[in-house]
Amino acid sequence: MEDTIVLYPSPGMGHLVPMVELGKLILTHNPSFSIIILSTTVPFDTGSTTAPYISRVSTTTPSIHFHHLPTISPPSTSSSINNIAALAFEFTGLYNPNLHYALETLISQKSRPKASIIDFFCSPSFEVFTSLHIPTYYFCPSSASGLSCLLLLPTTHQTIIEKIKDPNTSIEFPGVPPIPTPDMPVPFFDTEGIAFKGLISAGISIPKSSGILTNTFCAFEPRAVKAISDGLCTPNSPAPPIYCIGPLIEDSGEVHEHDCLRWLDSQPRQSVVFLCFGSMGLFKAEQLMEIAIGLEKSGHRFLWVLRSPPADGETKSSAKPEPDLDVLLPNGFLDRTRGRGLVVMKWAPQVAVLSHDSVGGFVTHCGWNSILEAVRAGVPMVGWPLYAEQRLNRVLLVEEMKVALALEESEGGFVSADELEKRVRELMDSVSGKGVRERVREMKDCAEAALGEGGTSRVALAELAESWKKS
Ligand code: UDP
Repeated sequence: MEDTIVLYPSPGMGHLVPMVELGKLILTHNPSFSIIILSTTVPFDTGSTTAPYISRVSTTTPSIHFHHLPTISPPSTSSSINNIAALAFEFTGLYNPNLHYALETLISQKSRPKASIIDFFCSPSFEVFTSLHIPTYYFCPSSASGLSCLLLLPTTHQTIIEKIKDPNTSIEFPGVPPIPTPDMPVPFFDTEGIAFKGLISAGISIPKSSGILTNTFCAFEPRAVKAISDGLCTPNSPAPPIYCIGPLIEDSGEVHEHDCLRWLDSQPRQSVVFLCFGSMGLFKAEQLMEIAIGLEKSGHRFLWVLRSPPADGETKSSAKPEPDLDVLLPNGFLDRTRGRGLVVMKWAPQVAVLSHDSVGGFVTHCGWNSILEAVRAGVPMVGWPLYAEQRLNRVLLVEEMKVALALEESEGGFVSADELEKRVRELMDSVSGKGVRERVREMKDCAEAALGEGGTSRVALAELAESWKKS
């Protein structure tokens, strides 16, 4: 009978893609395994990007099977659409009966899965898996440094609740540079909220799991990985085994055609600054105007993924109408920048873009996948965080890994045209930009080595796959 590994990602591209890549990697270590990905639908994921992606994977990798759990209706007390972390935890809990049924059916019709790997946002389902005696691992699609904070949370949350009130202090976690309180992940600012409580519960459950798989590589975050392995983040329980298996990145070879790739073909080597803000990043109209002015004044070539501004009160969504550039951009901007700049509507094939030889810089919202994709391609970054744990990621990129420059925001996160112009010039023209570029190239080589024959990430996953085969 076929051995099965069950993967349970949290919805949204940023969580689904690395989980799928993990499934593909497991198959390279053990092609006889069957991978089942349990997928769910939540309101913040309209399916407009995940559905075509899932269908592509189903065609190209038939050993990966998607099982869609029956959709549930939103809870009446549903968290705000803008509180993604709360929604993710809340919905996962509500999916538990459907999940339990699906797993029981799987066990009775096939066999008990050799292992399950669940996203940390799926922590409310941990006991559903363990109650069915399925060895359960956590998957952390973000940094090991973020994981250090998460694991320490159950023992330190009282101190954090006090400290977070003071914007002029910083918080220390093992193996992580001091994080200024304003840079802590969004859920930390509502310590009574579902998301913060969900993180504490996850921090309690993770050490009880069979181990943690993280989408990072040892050379990228050596201090945080060591702190976790040494048990510094889990003073009250044994250190959970940690397997750094990244960077897990979508195979860009699957994307061959896009106008922006053809446009990049006509640009000089490493001359283009790419601006892209994740699957959910949105800017108000006045901020879009400011970006356009800053880019034009910088004199640099650019490729900018632009979405319509949010409706009042909304901060993120992936289902916006096509942006009206005549209204959103300065008069004559497109004519004046023709040839040296390209604006792409809503979505670009980011992995393929970053790997293109013409791209020389990346203005990013600091989502973890975007960071890994830039590092894997050796592209230096300017960090402009927008939501989730992205401010913390920027601190890591700038202070610890030194692969990015920081944009300075004014009150409310607004970035002026002058500031954007300055940072783009600094990245592309200055000595500090050169330093960041050299450092990211070093990390690119380290990432390649980690994934290659005998590399740390390859060996870590091989070890796990071998243990599942024997179990
Ligand atoms: N992405 C893309 N094109 C876009 C925007 C995003 O391909 O126009 C991909 C990007 O390559 C990355 C993912 O969407 O793999 C976004 O994940 P990340 O963790 O960076 O940010 P999130 O969307 O979770 O905030």
